[in-house]
Amino acid sequence: MEKDIKDLKILIDNKTLTSRIKELADEINSKYDISKPLVLICVLRGAVMFYAELAKYLKMPVKMEFVSLSSYGNSQQSSGKIKTMNLNLPSFKGENVLVVEDIVDTGLTLDFLIKFIKSNCEAQDVKLAVLFDKKCARKYDVKPDFSAFDVDNKFIVGFGLDYCGFYRNLDYIGYFEA
Ligand code: 5GP
Repeated sequence: MEKDIKDLKILIDNKTLTSRIKELADEINSKYDISKPLVLICVLRGAVMFYAELAKYLKMPVKMEFVSLSSYGNSQQSSGKIKTMNLNLPSFKGENVLVVEDIVDTGLTLDFLIKFIKSNCEAQDVKLAVLFDKKCARKYDVKPDFSAFDVDNKFIVGFGLDYCGFYRNLDYIGYFEA
């Protein structure tokens, strides 16, 4: 591991993160019929903190599902290939599905996952919520329905996002100064 936590600069503190996620949950509540269940799919591992924080404020009955995918490996750039570790999902016939992801970068992972869910799970509706949208890096046509923050083309860590498997537990978002 080349980088060290002492070189990490704070980009977004915990208070800013959590208040924006609460705002995003309010936006999601207002876009759905809250009397109808919502299937919330967490894309492990990066989305874990965002998912848990967001779910607390959703007002509809929520079912929790988890998939595990990766396209970065241990590097700071997308490998361009998807590693699927767990894609065992049941049928969501007639249900609303919201995929929750940490960050959309090139869009490779979410392009694959959303197409997979649409063709295999019989959902009535599939939407996407992301904590970060790195629009400048996009190569696939993925547009989040709900997005908490835009981020420029820097490698960020914390609040679920890792570097070599570490830093996911930080309660803030940081970046390594060059
Ligand atoms: P994509 O498939 O959109 O190129 O990449 C999506 C995945 O790459 C994310 O789920 C995340 O795991 C990883 N990723 C993309 N940008 C960053 C970043 O700035 N920091 C970290 N830690 N992971 C990132």
